Amino acid sequence: MSRINIGGFGTGNVEQASSLAIRYAEALNVRFIDFYRYAIFPQSGRHAKTAYMQIPRRLYTEGMTTTALEWVLALATLMRTSDVQYCTTLPLQGAISGRGLNTDERRWCPQCLDEMADSGEVIYEPLVWRMCDACCTVHATALASVCPLCKRGAQTFLVPNARVGCCRHCGAWLGHPKAAMERAVDERQISASRLCSELVLLPQLLGEHEALVPSKVAVQALWSHFFDASSERMGQAIGETAARIRCYLRGDLTAPLSVIVRLALVTQTTMRQIFVTQEFLDSGSGVTVEPSVVSSLHVLESPSAGRLVSDARNVDDGTQGNPPSSGDSSTSRKIWRWRRRNALGEQAQVRARNAARQAVEKKVSFAHKVKVIVADLKTSGAPQPSIKAVKQLISSRGPLLNPWERMIIASRISQVYSVGESAISDGPSGDSYVQHVNG
Ligand SMILES: [Zn+2]
Ligand SMILES: [Zn+2]
Repeated sequence: MSRINIGGFGTGNVEQASSLAIRYAEALNVRFIDFYRYAIFPQSGRHAKTAYMQIPRRLYTEGMTTTALEWVLALATLMRTSDVQYCTTLPLQGAISGRGLNTDERRWCPQCLDEMADSGEVIYEPLVWRMCDACCTVHATALASVCPLCKRGAQTFLVPNARVGCCRHCGAWLGHPKAAMERAVDERQISASRLCSELVLLPQLLGEHEALVPSKVAVQALWSHFFDASSERMGQAIGETAARIRCYLRGDLTAPLSVIVRLALVTQTTMRQIFVTQEFLDSGSGVTVEPSVVSSLHVLESPSAGRLVSDARNVDDGTQGNPPSSGDSSTSRKIWRWRRRNALGEQAQVRARNAARQAVEKKVSFAHKVKVIVADLKTSGAPQPSIKAVKQLISSRGPLLNPWERMIIASRISQVYSVGESAISDGPSGDSYVQHVNG
């Protein structure tokens, strides 16, 4: 069988699973329905009983569903790579809620489709187009959902003759820049969409010893760092009730994407900080940051940035080093500023990557210490320690815990002492326990 590569792999624009499946069928020169019938369907352990196969109208091949899992397994087997999972939101399970995450109908950016076609490179539909909070950040437009030719919307993802970038009803090419012209979005929507891309990218970039923390740990970290551990303040900042916030904190409810996006916007944090490192750059407490404030990690582009990008390609490289003289047109000054801002963004990304790497190293060493100390305690016959006692034995800085540390220590104690995590307490701070052990 021929092999194809996942579009946009390693970026926030990674391809969605249905697009990948459709392209795979195209590469094999078979109709999509036949690919489904003979390649996908049998992989789920079922066999077609009738001569006529129907593709279910509502297939959540990108969601946190059994269907998605079946498709991922089928495609992964065919393509011989487990990377297919990143074409769905499955790797985000537990970190955010699957409810309200994906759109029911297909959406696309006509300009992006046209540019992909013009570039002569692979044409595919990114996963982020399936997410409810997404727009096109390159062209600063809302995603389209109605065919420019037959004017029909409510497009499903997979039909018997499905083709990438084409209408599911009439088969027409969906790239049609004019259709998107009057669908401008504001900077807030662009930032939200950029966070969606960040989230999609996150699982692809996890280091060997990294994992996404569960929703409640992520929300707890933001709550204690930025909102003085006040559910009221957190709720006010993002327009949720305090009761609802407490549900997220206890883990009774998994926080939906819209809540995480609003929290990231008001605290100016990245998805990586929220779900992986939990290390926030500023002192945090008492945050009243305006969502419109631009941080170096979230460089916002103005709605005209898309045009500037294409203009920038036509400007010679001499404009990169020095600002254009005052005699130059305002466009070339704009382009220079845009490039400069991008360069600053890259520097910030390098710094963020370094900080992230150090954080990973610190965490690996912390987890290792926890492992050694808890094992030592158990071997020496010491009674089951509290979480704070373990923390105190590791660090002279005292028993203050962040949620990630709590999680690591609790799971280690639970493993070594064979107790449920509910039977492990935070405190007492464990001074007497520590003295007892040291003495
Ligand atoms: Zn676009
Ligand atoms: Zn159509």
